[in-house]
Amino acid sequence: MSGGTVWFVGAGPGDPELITVKGRALIERAGAILFAGSLVSEAATRWAPAGCVIADSKDMTLEQMSAWLIAQAGRCQTVVRLQTGDPGLYGALIELVQPLDAAGVPIAVVPGVSSAMASAAAAVESLTLPEVTQTVIFTRMEGRTPMPEGESLEVLAAHHSTLCIFLSITLMGRVTAALTAAGWSPDAPVVVVHKASWPGEEKIIRGTVATIQGLCREAKIVSQSMIIASPTLGARHWETLAKSKLYDASFTHKFRRASTKPSLITDLPKDLPETT
Ligand code: SAH
Repeated sequence: MSGGTVWFVGAGPGDPELITVKGRALIERAGAILFAGSLVSEAATRWAPAGCVIADSKDMTLEQMSAWLIAQAGRCQTVVRLQTGDPGLYGALIELVQPLDAAGVPIAVVPGVSSAMASAAAAVESLTLPEVTQTVIFTRMEGRTPMPEGESLEVLAAHHSTLCIFLSITLMGRVTAALTAAGWSPDAPVVVVHKASWPGEEKIIRGTVATIQGLCREAKIVSQSMIIASPTLGARHWETLAKSKLYDASFTHKFRRASTKPSLITDLPKDLPETT
């Protein structure tokens, strides 16, 4: 046994260029790659070396997947499990890690660009804004996977913070009903991003709590979509915006003294502190 490592690599949201440099380097030296469906096949096939064993996990059970990964780790140094977006979100990561731990196979995780972030980027939206909301909730509607106590969309939406709703495009009627029950106005903006970052396939549907379901139906959007409901949506076009304290001329932090003159973008410190 050569004792290889299984790397759980976030492949990013779809655009093969949105994988991390580290993830790509691992693919380039992988002896075996197990990828999760069509979303990430492109990255796997584009950068894998000649002779790399590549398999699609689409038709495998969890047991078959872990058996495959364990067998490949016995054969080669670098085994990659490629997952969409970030492996830590709705990716069955722990269910796959446990059998590998039990088999004594070393594992490591490389984060990826989640579709939540890619969707916000595609729509040129900020998920947080000063004095509007400073909180983002990643969630989903209950489907076959039940929601734990206190996590129904209606309860979470009552915070009126940003909601990135995964795995729920076919349940849009229930999403808007939950937002309404939580007190969101029928005019509150909602954006749906289908296949965020996929070259030539991305679609952005902008609507409101009242209109988004019909707009998605008209656009025939039934899969691979992120629903973002947020009081920050559309801020690009707002005339009044509370500015970030970090860039305020009167705000002192460890990299810059407050000045009375407004600072130019070029004056900003190279290493920003963690507050914005
Ligand atoms: N780990 C992934 C999520 C996997 S769950 C991540 O971090 O993005 C699958 C769900 O993710 C889909 O139902 C959809 O809601 C969302 N999703 C994945 N890729 C997407 C994309 N390119 N654009 C929009 N939503 C996407």
